[in-house]
Amino acid sequence: MTSQAWSNWAGQQQCTPAVVARPRHEAQLALDVAQAAAAGHTVRALGSGHSFTDACVTDGCHVDLSQMAELVDVDRASGLVRVQAGMPLHRLTAALQLHGLALENQGDIDRQTISGATATATHGTGTRFRNLSSGIVGARIVLADGSIRELSLPGDEELLRAVRVSVGALGVISELTLQTVPAFRLRKIEEPRPTDELLDGYLELAAVHDHFECYVFPYADTGLSIATERTDDPAAPPPRWRTWIVDDLLANHGLGAFSRAGRRWPHRAPEISRALVRLLSRDERIDHSHLVYASERRVRFTEMEYAIPRERISEAVRAVLAMIERERIGVTFPIEVRTTAPDDAYLSTAEGRDTAYVAVHQFVGMPYEPYFRQVEAIMDGFGGRPHWGKRHFQTAATLAPRYPGWTAFQAARAELDPTGVFTNDYVRRVLGPAPAETTA
Ligand SMILES: Cc1cc2nc3c(=O)[nH]c(=O)nc-3n(C[C@H](O)[C@H](O)[C@H](O)COP(=O)(O)OP(=O)(O)OC[C@H]3O[C@@H](n4cnc5c(N)ncnc54)[C@H](O)[C@@H]3O)c2cc1C
Repeated sequence: MTSQAWSNWAGQQQCTPAVVARPRHEAQLALDVAQAAAAGHTVRALGSGHSFTDACVTDGCHVDLSQMAELVDVDRASGLVRVQAGMPLHRLTAALQLHGLALENQGDIDRQTISGATATATHGTGTRFRNLSSGIVGARIVLADGSIRELSLPGDEELLRAVRVSVGALGVISELTLQTVPAFRLRKIEEPRPTDELLDGYLELAAVHDHFECYVFPYADTGLSIATERTDDPAAPPPRWRTWIVDDLLANHGLGAFSRAGRRWPHRAPEISRALVRLLSRDERIDHSHLVYASERRVRFTEMEYAIPRERISEAVRAVLAMIERERIGVTFPIEVRTTAPDDAYLSTAEGRDTAYVAVHQFVGMPYEPYFRQVEAIMDGFGGRPHWGKRHFQTAATLAPRYPGWTAFQAARAELDPTGVFTNDYVRRVLGPAPAETTA
């Protein structure tokens, strides 16, 4: 175990843990955790560092699972697969494809690890589809004394509801069992549409398409509609030159150039945003699901995302757009609007309700806090639940009433990590102190 400086994807969360463990197998992981805990360190498992919050920041022990990143077992008939915790989604989905299987739904990118993504309730979009964590039907989790709890169904329903979305606060997951689905293809159509049409029609659009999301741009009256359907049509990815223009030149280089202009001249954000939407164009592609769901994101930004009751989505987005214009916020990044089906993980942002998501972004190096705080105030009025991996300013006191499963999650925490080994400042802020910390 060595010490090493760490920073997240956006470069805004940093730390130098006292020790870094890089286990190659579960027995080593158990030993590393027990040793770190015995030495008085707190322990944080690391995914691929794509959370914008300080979820992974620690001066204790980092557990880097990049060497526990393989598919362990595949049962093609049932779709059940066992996967090591550190496997990145892009490798997992490529491996599943070879077995004729796929994840039912995915988010915008696939660089996260399976355990890091599920720990924060990472989601894609689609009113009939739940977030990634809902595919977890079994788990192996290493506790502070180095013991291993194996959770499976039937029998461990309650603990699995806690472990699916744990923010890393219950122990270090070494392996997950996932329910996957037969591989499928998607047809994705992106096209510019008037913002009013997107917002007025959002619920209907979300209902008729398998996966629907849109980007609306502050200060502009045009947004981007992204509608994706399951299809039996053969794969028809766009030619390489078009992918380069759409994905590289516009989505990454173009957005980067406009973002840098916005950072230099924040008071000109309205003109920059209006110029940016003029570059939006229609794009259509059909490909294997994992190649359609995920895109590359090279422009660095920070983000806040709130889950709210779905039926109030247009009202909420309009309130954010109005606030940006009223306060003349210097932002050129769009607002992203998505949906998911309800699920039953205690800390899932979609627990027990039809959900829509409002995500706001700010380019690195630009002030985000005044903007995000005002968005958060609006979302508070909609009973918003913040994404655990994205910026927010809530505390355990403000979050507890928003989660019907809060007490059940805390009971699982008392059972699995009573002394608070798997904690850090973020966990203390958003989940409160561990049971032993309150009685000490
Ligand atoms: C460019 C970009 C695009 C994104 N797109 C989306 C999106 O489309 N949808 C969405 O919902 N989110 C999205 N996110 C957010 C991202 O999916 C989450 O923050 C996710 O948690 C990051 O996964 P990770 O592997 O990097 O985990 P990390 O950020 O490294 O860790 C996240 C949490 O998981 C815990 N953890 C990691 N491994 C384990 C383990 N083995 N056992 C126990 N706990 C563990 C960590 O301790 C931490 O609390 C995006 C983020 C970025 C930067």
